Amino acid sequence: MTDLTNKPAAVLAFVSTGARTVTTVLDTTLPAGQQQRTAQSVLDPLSVASLAELRGGTHAGHAAGTDRFRCAQCGGPVFLAQRPADAETTRDGRAAFFKHFSSTDALDCPRRTAPNLRDVGARPYDGLQEGLHHETLKLALADCLSHDPRFTEVKVERYLVGDDNTHCVPDVQALCGGKAVAFDLQLATLPIPEIQRRDRFYGANGVHHVVLTDAVDLSRLTQQAFCDLHLNMAGRIFAIDETSIAVSIRDKRFQLKELTIVPQVVPDRPVYNIWKTALVGTEVLLMAPDLRRSDGLAGYRAAILAGAHAVFGAERSAIRRNAAAGTSLTTVGLHWRQISQTIHGSSLDSALADGVSTALALLALVEIYITLTPDQRVAVQKQLQSRLDALLSHRHGLHWAPLVAEVIKVWPMMETAMSAANTARLHRLQTHTGIVRPLLRWHASMLAVLFPWLGCRLLVKAPKYAPSLRLSAGRA
Ligand SMILES: [Zn+2]
Repeated sequence: MTDLTNKPAAVLAFVSTGARTVTTVLDTTLPAGQQQRTAQSVLDPLSVASLAELRGGTHAGHAAGTDRFRCAQCGGPVFLAQRPADAETTRDGRAAFFKHFSSTDALDCPRRTAPNLRDVGARPYDGLQEGLHHETLKLALADCLSHDPRFTEVKVERYLVGDDNTHCVPDVQALCGGKAVAFDLQLATLPIPEIQRRDRFYGANGVHHVVLTDAVDLSRLTQQAFCDLHLNMAGRIFAIDETSIAVSIRDKRFQLKELTIVPQVVPDRPVYNIWKTALVGTEVLLMAPDLRRSDGLAGYRAAILAGAHAVFGAERSAIRRNAAAGTSLTTVGLHWRQISQTIHGSSLDSALADGVSTALALLALVEIYITLTPDQRVAVQKQLQSRLDALLSHRHGLHWAPLVAEVIKVWPMMETAMSAANTARLHRLQTHTGIVRPLLRWHASMLAVLFPWLGCRLLVKAPKYAPSLRLSAGRA
């Protein structure tokens, strides 16, 4: 049993009130008057990637004065907190809950609970030892940069003052080709609002921001604060270790290790994720964040596709053709069975009972639609709307609404492709008070191998085993 006696009071309170206090929220992206949603319907279907995205999104919205979610009881803005990890706690939306932003002029609300640093993504400070270790690494990082003639004015923990006189103190900063670059080693110890404040500061001042971790932090990559960082970057994070330090100094070219989450599709195992490590130079280190993210998503998609092709290419193609034609899954039931047995996916019976046929027909057409020119789209739009209607009107439509929301996230143009009736029906389902069943989670691996563009959203998570990096005793 865990000894809780030496934990701060806030953490104790947290453990005992793990249940969701805010049970209903207003989703301000829905039309006025139809915004009330159950916390269950918003949170439970979220995959780990969608959770990280929504956590970041609610904080960014709050800072911009456009809160996505409000408490239905008091109208105060709320954000997504996550129960601390333990053996029974999943890392997806099922362990998430809404919590009021703390503010001095906040309305009194019976659903308000005590603030806790963990809620906003910070992890507790682990003591002096870690502080010392990070000090050494900052110096090593600065040393690596100083050996590379392309980097100048290398500074450790110095003020970086912005155009509007606000400032940040990055762990290390330097100039590269006239552009300022800021490095932060301990970002995951900070709450999301502070991380986002730095992002805004660096963005506004033309500073490229590099977030990195190190060999000592590897075991923490599964913690929410780290997941928020790497999952929102399509499962990529930089790391410093002995190899990157040695190579940077030897070659006089600054390099870091990049850790990337890669899906594995292999026979006789559920699809799982591993960390891949590679030495990368400035071409990756200085890549624009949006580009690095889309490049990561493409890599994840390609890895699923390659694995699926190699293991059950023919069966997969048959199911996809069948779905594009809008034919029932029963026609290709044997193929479904073969793939699902190979990757321990959902059974044919459950797929048929849950209406997966209808979902596949939609996904196949979405995939065609997005590749068409605007002129060609006009001809397909009606059929697309009718397939959307079929899924949203399905007797399990309530449970498939989260899939439609995910599709819109991947292809924002879908929102305008929908008919007014599609949109109205989606909103009605999203504000329904019934319990949403996690069909998306149950069928995640099958949907992901058939439509890899959904793969990262449905399957990515911090791998169970940390990558192997090494730091010498002197540094760690
Ligand atoms: Zn409230």
